Amino acid sequence: KKIKPKKDVYVVASDSAFAPFEYKDSDGEYKGIDVDLLKRIAELQGFNIEFKFIGFSSAMQALESGQADGMIAGMTITDERKANYDFSDPYFQSGIQLAVAKDNKDIKHYKDLKGKTVGAKVGTESADFLEAHKKEYGYTIKSFDAADQLYDALKVGSIDAMMDDYPVIGYAVKQGQELKTPIKREVGGEYGFAVKKGQNPELSAMFTEGLKELKQTGEYDKIIDRYIGSDS
Ligand code: GLN
Repeated sequence: KKIKPKKDVYVVASDSAFAPFEYKDSDGEYKGIDVDLLKRIAELQGFNIEFKFIGFSSAMQALESGQADGMIAGMTITDERKANYDFSDPYFQSGIQLAVAKDNKDIKHYKDLKGKTVGAKVGTESADFLEAHKKEYGYTIKSFDAADQLYDALKVGSIDAMMDDYPVIGYAVKQGQELKTPIKREVGGEYGFAVKKGQNPELSAMFTEGLKELKQTGEYDKIIDRYIGSDS
């Protein structure tokens, strides 16, 4: 089913670094699962997009202020967010996980985080999880705007642990980052394409329709495999 776009160009906000969903490659181009999915869906459904890779919480703000029409950023569909955003059908099953330096020996359970500093990116599911369990486990939270700062902080030891979506940690490990995940991941939500509540309904509808088509033709699996091999 084809839906008619109502705008000449839809501005879509995204994260600045969330590999393998969106990241700037060595050739200076943004690549990733979110980028490829949305580009193909726009082709299939016949609408134009302009990406803005501005960071996760900035993307949410851009959507709220109307500077962006839509958002794709490995964004988890949660009941809380549904109060402010309308989501497409889900396109990826995810979850969050704690990561520590590869040579860390003393963090094996959440209770080992007592007195430690744990990092997360502002506005994320991980940040919310850490906030909700702060009293119980007695750690301090350090917030970061972007993933590179978060991962660097763990590397240099200015934080003891960090929390992020597990496929993103998994990708970092595959890229040779010295991390490990001592605790089982939290059963997590699914990613969706978001619009501001009540705004641009045709845009999320076109995403859902295009996604259906990509799943039927097998192209969805090809895009996922391009970034997350079957061995991961
Ligand atoms: N999935 C997480 C969330 O929605 C993290 C997304 C991100 O950092 N880009 O909060």
